Amino acid sequence: MTLTKSDKLELTKAEMQDYGYQVVDAIVAHFDTQNEKFPVATASRSEMDILFQQDAPEHPSNATEVLHFVLENVMTKSNIVTHPRSYSFVPGPSNYISAMSDTLATGFNIFSGGWAASPAAAELEIVTMNWLLKLFGLPIKKGGGIFTSGGSMANLTALVTARNIKCGQDFSKAVIYLSDQAHSSNIKAIHILGFKKEQIRMIPTDMEFKFSVNKLKNAIAKDKLEGLQPFCLIASSGTTNTGTVDSLNELAAICKKEKLWFHIDAAYGGAAILAKNGKKLLQGIEKADSITVDPHKWFFQPYEIGCLLVRNHKWLSGTFTEKPEYLRDIEGNESEINFYDHGIELTRRFRALKFYMSIKTFGLKAFRKAIDYNIYLAEQLEDFLRKSDKWEVVSPANLAIINFRYNPIAENWSEKQLDKINQKISKKVVASREALLVTTILNRQVVLRMCLINPRTTMNDIKSTILLCEKFAAE
Ligand SMILES: *Cc1c(COP(=O)(O)O)cnc(C)c1O
Repeated sequence: MTLTKSDKLELTKAEMQDYGYQVVDAIVAHFDTQNEKFPVATASRSEMDILFQQDAPEHPSNATEVLHFVLENVMTKSNIVTHPRSYSFVPGPSNYISAMSDTLATGFNIFSGGWAASPAAAELEIVTMNWLLKLFGLPIKKGGGIFTSGGSMANLTALVTARNIKCGQDFSKAVIYLSDQAHSSNIKAIHILGFKKEQIRMIPTDMEFKFSVNKLKNAIAKDKLEGLQPFCLIASSGTTNTGTVDSLNELAAICKKEKLWFHIDAAYGGAAILAKNGKKLLQGIEKADSITVDPHKWFFQPYEIGCLLVRNHKWLSGTFTEKPEYLRDIEGNESEINFYDHGIELTRRFRALKFYMSIKTFGLKAFRKAIDYNIYLAEQLEDFLRKSDKWEVVSPANLAIINFRYNPIAENWSEKQLDKINQKISKKVVASREALLVTTILNRQVVLRMCLINPRTTMNDIKSTILLCEKFAAE
């Protein structure tokens, strides 16, 4: 049996070059013109079905035609999360160097699981992990970590580790604490781990949306009285809703006293450690047992790269090491880390490469400046809104997140009317496709939320969006 070139899924050198240049040209054009595009794409299921539904084709098609079909129909039907007026959720500003690094990693299809398979990939993960450990004040020699697909996987990896180290086999009496502002991925992870509802304490936050330390202390005391085993606390360092940083020093003291695992979910907010007063903004973060950071948010990396940092790398290897016979030959020695022994995945893409190349290329200084700018931008917006008699700041600028609502002094609207109009404003803004601006709920109020972590966003972008909101509110 002989295979043709195409049967081996191969192209000629000239075909590869032609195809590759077209892809690069498309990406470059996107980076070059994205600011002028609409950040919002909408399409219904039936519209999408009409475009794409078909049986898997048995026969080949022209490569360039397929590519052009995709560029025209697929790449245009997604929100542009890198857009300066993409304010919602946590945007992914990304950067070109990292996008190209990802292309390299994929092009060479580097297996980033074991040392023997790719020593340089493992080494770059060690090196970049050390950069992060140092930034967050965790011990470099003893500490460790792993890149994951994102923050959700990092949180899951952290909680598997916490449960293993603190509870071993029997976690029937174990209790875990988190605040009502903790990210949903933590609850998801807790459910995946098989904890029952009775083992989860969702502690209310205070007026500032911070973990209520008194309520936490009471809950722990009550659980101990009942013979339960408090084992883990999840703090947020930058909640997704408001950017609030929990009182990490106080929580650290409780964890120390009660021998709880101290996990800090800093998925989006952790990057603020690079800001001018980053140590102050995130004070206490260095006391964590484990920290989740999400480089594909405010470290400007393209999807997917999350990261878990731990105070002691042996906690990870002690939790995830299995020794199957078919991996015997790629094991390194003690110092040669196999990242498949430090987390859930065996086959892993080379995530460290983009982090490494973008920081080498731009230098940390550029990252620091961009993050400072983002924090400043949110503060500027807060000033602007406070000076207006049409807007109310509901939660102040915190790590580049701000929540506000349309609430003209002259109108004296009821809460119900305010919810309705703010919901309507968001709907109309999104329908206009000019900006991605959606609502969240704070104190049972519907509020507009901006997460300003894109260094390409300007005060002009923001002001034009606020004007658009005012125009829709008047309608
Ligand atoms: C975004 C986020 C997550 C989830 O991260 P993914 O990368 O989306 O999986 C977890 N925690 C916080 C605080 C977040 O902001």
